[in-house]
Amino acid sequence: MLIKNQIYEAVITDYTSEGQGVAHIEGCAVFIPNAVAGEKVKVRIEKAAKTWAAGKIVEILEKSPHRTIRECPVAKLCGGCDFWHMDYAEESRLKAERVRNCLNRLGGENLEKVEILSAPTCYGYRNKAQYPVAAKKGRAYAGFFKAGTHEVVENNRCLILPEETDRVKNAVMDYVNQFRVTAYDEVEHKGLLRHIYVRRGAVSGQILVCLVVNGRSIPKVHELIGRLKKIPGFTTLVLSVNTKKGNAVLGDEFITLHGPGFIEDTLCGLNFRLSPRSFYQVNHHQAQRLYEAAISQAEITKEDTVLDLYCGVGTITLAMAGAAGKVIGVEVIPQAVEDAWDNAKRNGIENAEFFCGDAGQAALDLEEKGVKADVVVVDPPRKGLNADTIEALYRFAPRRIVYVSCDPATLARDVALLKARGYTLKNALAADLFPRCSHVESIVTMIRA
Ligand code: SAH
Repeated sequence: MLIKNQIYEAVITDYTSEGQGVAHIEGCAVFIPNAVAGEKVKVRIEKAAKTWAAGKIVEILEKSPHRTIRECPVAKLCGGCDFWHMDYAEESRLKAERVRNCLNRLGGENLEKVEILSAPTCYGYRNKAQYPVAAKKGRAYAGFFKAGTHEVVENNRCLILPEETDRVKNAVMDYVNQFRVTAYDEVEHKGLLRHIYVRRGAVSGQILVCLVVNGRSIPKVHELIGRLKKIPGFTTLVLSVNTKKGNAVLGDEFITLHGPGFIEDTLCGLNFRLSPRSFYQVNHHQAQRLYEAAISQAEITKEDTVLDLYCGVGTITLAMAGAAGKVIGVEVIPQAVEDAWDNAKRNGIENAEFFCGDAGQAALDLEEKGVKADVVVVDPPRKGLNADTIEALYRFAPRRIVYVSCDPATLARDVALLKARGYTLKNALAADLFPRCSHVESIVTMIRA
């Protein structure tokens, strides 16, 4: 066991899924933040267990050529990004490697390389921000949580967001401080404003502002709207009522204070309506490339019925509708399903149907009713597919399963389960939708043997 507070020399050999460096000292895995693979460092042990330890770099003895000076002034504190200390080439490489490692280790594959769709820019790409609000000495401020805490790190200009998004946040905070709107205090469960949620259509430029409040109204609404109207693209202001304790950002009820309560954006040549509660990929350019890969891997024909499980507002479903005979989307959030129906209509798509419910349960029901699926697309949240969904896939026995994933570990686990049910892996591709952050998307196709 390593000794706490002692300093050791180590070489960084790898990264964790959260983006920390990994070194091995005396047979013990040591997790070291802000490290770059290949570097030789002196590390102080801060936590020591039997088989693992956590440490901090005290000196870099041999620096990686991929190390960079952090452009973001709060990068070391803010829990939003993980990789400002390395160049993008290294970030891209480590993400592709992570997907490959997961598929090999947990998916039983033997892939020599996984390609990655690298992002053309690390700046201003995020079309959505959720700023938690806090107060100190009578002044309210907003920013992002410090890693692993609920301490808000203030940041005037977040480099991965478009400028307009930060302008919205600053305008809201000026209003908050002028009219003494209270910041929510989660320990006391008191105060009004919890989060400022901003979504901006990358193509449309339309901006939705959603204030998450521990209450049902805000003071001086017209003052706030007047200020927001000065920001180009401001379209709609919505309140999300969240009076519950806990970590969920959005509440269940939404009250529209200005505009239609949703924004529109264009993706894959289609027009989409997006309500605050609906999922929409945060990186427009990269999402489009990911969906193009999904469409090409699906190899759909006009005779095919395509089932899109976890379909959100129907982005992938509708992007595939033109090539298919029929498309069916399943999604658990009612507002997203309403958006999806509206999106089919606004694009004149008549061969699409949507169902609201748990993907696995709904898929089993559809199968029981005699629905056939030639191709199934799944795009689940991080926890991956549940047992019902795997069972439904088995019963549908589609020719192809296109699996879009935001967690390569659960993807690889599910790949192994589908292999046990007679499928083989065809394509595997990583896609970087979150430059500077440790998350990585991936897409694989499984074909029926
Ligand atoms: N394919 C869509 C959405 C992917 S995100 C797109 O690319 O835009 C995953 C979606 O799964 C979210 O919309 C989420 O609301 C939904 N979801 C989460 N759990 C679900 C479940 N058990 N059943 C169905 N949908 C679910």
